[in-house]
Amino acid sequence: REVSMPNRRVMLKFSGEALAGDKHFGFSDDVIFSVAKQVKEAVSQGVEVAIVIGGGNFWRGRQSEQVDRYKADQVGILATMMNCIYVSEIFRISGLKTKIMSSIAVGDMAELFSKDKAVKALKKGQVVFCAGGTGHPFFSTDTGVVLRALELECKEILLAKAIDGVYDKDPKKYPDAKKYDTLSIEEVVEKKLQVIDLSASILCLENRLPLSVFSLEEEDGIAKALLGEHRGTRVTA
Ligand code: UDP
Repeated sequence: REVSMPNRRVMLKFSGEALAGDKHFGFSDDVIFSVAKQVKEAVSQGVEVAIVIGGGNFWRGRQSEQVDRYKADQVGILATMMNCIYVSEIFRISGLKTKIMSSIAVGDMAELFSKDKAVKALKKGQVVFCAGGTGHPFFSTDTGVVLRALELECKEILLAKAIDGVYDKDPKKYPDAKKYDTLSIEEVVEKKLQVIDLSASILCLENRLPLSVFSLEEEDGIAKALLGEHRGTRVTA
């Protein structure tokens, strides 16, 4: 592979729901193949890519009214595992090399997360999927993504979303909502902007880890973001 972008290691996150496309449940192969193609482009240019995927296309712990949060969240953790297995397979069909590393033991489905092994794989051009979030209930994959990005010494976190950036208020409700080009992580925390959940944004603040929020739907948006082009909103830290 070419090494035109050496030392660029990034963490890419997409929500589970983004993978489902218009169906809002399960998988849209079209969406996932498009993501794979774009990641392949960046990897071929030397970018090291780690990936975290949410689980909202199957289940979110807070959805349950009857079952206690601890157990309901465990189901959510397994949903992130299912997503990694499926998406990793589509990446492989697309010609990428992948490795799934999990925060919980799941037999032969994935190996346990280890920084050393993950870094070794990234350096070889493999895409590393970090499955299972933090492995603990009461967290979200947002916290998992920051944790893994810090552990793997990623330069930044790229959040591919259904929305094309961070707004001062909900653009679906308020037509005059303003999109930020850049803003600081302090502002995200102070104004409680819905970029990532609060515990995750505090972890970014404490460790000075920047992130970008951009649209998953923009053509080649993921490839461009992975290659370092400014897209959507950049949150500086
Ligand atoms: N989850 C958890 N701990 C973690 C990560 C995820 O308990 O460290 C559970 C939680 O129930 C969450 C679900 O997994 O609702 C799916 O993750 P998330 O809601 O972050 O998915 P997304 O909204 O990004 O698809």
